[in-house]
Amino acid sequence: KLHNMVQELKGNIRVFCRVRPVLEDLSAGFSFPDPRDHKEIVVHSSSSSATGQERKETYNFGFDRVFEPQSTQAEVFEEISQLAQSCIDGYNVCIFAYGQTGSGKSFTMEGGPTESSAGMIPRAVEQVFRGADHMKSKGWEYKMEGQFLEIYNETINDLLGKGEFDKKKHEIKHDPKGGSTRVTDVEIVSLSSASQVRSLLAIAQSRRSVAATLMNERSSRSHSVFTLRISGVNVGLEGCAGTGEKCEGSLNLVDLAGSERLNVSFANGADKERVRETQNINRSLSALGDVIAALGEKGEKSDKHIPYRNSKLTYLLQNSLSGNSKTLMVLNLSPLAAHLQESLTSLRFATKVN
Ligand code: ADP
Repeated sequence: KLHNMVQELKGNIRVFCRVRPVLEDLSAGFSFPDPRDHKEIVVHSSSSSATGQERKETYNFGFDRVFEPQSTQAEVFEEISQLAQSCIDGYNVCIFAYGQTGSGKSFTMEGGPTESSAGMIPRAVEQVFRGADHMKSKGWEYKMEGQFLEIYNETINDLLGKGEFDKKKHEIKHDPKGGSTRVTDVEIVSLSSASQVRSLLAIAQSRRSVAATLMNERSSRSHSVFTLRISGVNVGLEGCAGTGEKCEGSLNLVDLAGSERLNVSFANGADKERVRETQNINRSLSALGDVIAALGEKGEKSDKHIPYRNSKLTYLLQNSLSGNSKTLMVLNLSPLAAHLQESLTSLRFATKVN
């Protein structure tokens, strides 16, 4: 039994927990351990709902918000919409989905094809467009650009690129004066409507699936980073000059690689690549945990060193995680008792960053 308590908001870093429902197709996303073992774990979102279950073990973890299996995409987004809105006001926002493969990360971030199943990426983008539209009446004009990258084995690939996938070398360049980050040779798509983003997600999906092999379900072995850059200028209203004020924000939506540990004793020669992948994933996830934990402590100590350079992911997001930024980690959990150990590992990771 997992018993969670709602915690006070702390600084600009928040951690949510979302447990997915038991699926009719119990094997979805999982091959190991036996998915037919569908005993459930129980998650309570407040101390008042703790019940006397037969299970002996109780684990307590604190989150800013817990979403139980029946929570809808709309309910989850309700908690995120303000964050999305703040990009318009010049904040850099990062939202991460963390969890083992099959725990619902992609469902949370990208979601399904219907309006009600749409995930955080399309909803957040819609919100940003709506927010920008609203600011028009105050004399603001916005430009939106999208970029969608994959980090696989500590290498950046362009999910929207025109050339052959996986072949170009991309480098991260930080503006030495601070502020902007650029990745060389990547496609940056100018966005004029939220619906365009759906087709970008589809393009990204098809590029990824071409690179996938049977052994290697690519999307679960790599991080995907969707970035929406927003730049606004106050141009004024008709007959009334603007202030010329400028504002730049970004929204980074990150679907992390599956956090599951590989049982290295299963790895034979053919699996060497898999071991390397896993080491890279573990390294970059723990680098992310270290950076977020260090940022959380920074409030107390302004000269604290933040180890951005320990992974491509943290280096890429350096400018979006530091300074004028807001970060949210969504911890996705499987409801199955068979996955309890992985779930506990995820929960402990989240505790570190919370
Ligand atoms: P991950 O990205 O963590 O590997 P997925 O998002 O692919 O996991 O989820 C695994 C399966 O569970 C998919 O079939 C997905 O549609 C389904 N799923 C995940 N979360 C939910 C949810 N909240 N409601 C309904 N189905 C879900």
